[in-house]
Amino acid sequence: MNFIRTALYEINNCKSCRVEQTACVYETKPYGNIPQQNFYNSVVLVTTKLSAKDLLTCLKELEVKIGRTVSQLWGPREIDIDILFYDNFIYSDEQLTVPHKEVHLRDFVLQPIADINAEFIHPVLNKTISALLKESGSDNILNKVAGKIL
Ligand code: AMP
Repeated sequence: MNFIRTALYEINNCKSCRVEQTACVYETKPYGNIPQQNFYNSVVLVTTKLSAKDLLTCLKELEVKIGRTVSQLWGPREIDIDILFYDNFIYSDEQLTVPHKEVHLRDFVLQPIADINAEFIHPVLNKTISALLKESGSDNILNKVAGKIL
C-alpha cells in the first residue's frame, strides 16, 4: 500500500502531470504461474502535457525512484506503473502500446478503471469498460483493501 501511495504522490509531483481521480485499491491474485505474494492494484486518471512516449519514460523513471529492483515478466515486483489508455490515442512500437495490450483481459485492471469511468469506450475494441469487465473471464480480485484516495 505504501508503494501505491508513494506512486500517487510522485506522479502528481511529476512535472506536467496531475492526478485527477483515483480508483479503489484491490488485493489480487498474481497473474501467471509464478508462485508469489498477492498484488495490490489500482488506477489513476492523470492529465498531462507529456506525449504518451515521454509519459512512459517518466513513469519508468518513477518506478526506479520508488524502489523497483526486479523485472521479471509476471514475476514479483515492488511497483509496476503502466499506461492503460491515453485518451483515445492508438499507438504501437517496440516500447509502447496504447491501449495497453492486456487491459481487456484483466479484471484487476478493468474494475479500478470502472471505479473512475465504467462507460469509457476502449478505442480499439469499441466496447465500454463495464462490457469488457463482464466478458474478461478473469477472476483475480480477492478484496477491496482501500477506497478512493482522491
Ligand atoms: P513492465 O514489466 O510493465 O514494467 O513493462 C515492460 C515494458 O513494457 C516497458 O519497459 C515498456 O517499454 C513496455 N510497454 C509497452 N506498452 C506499455 C504500456 N502501455 N505501459 C507500460 N509499459 C509498456
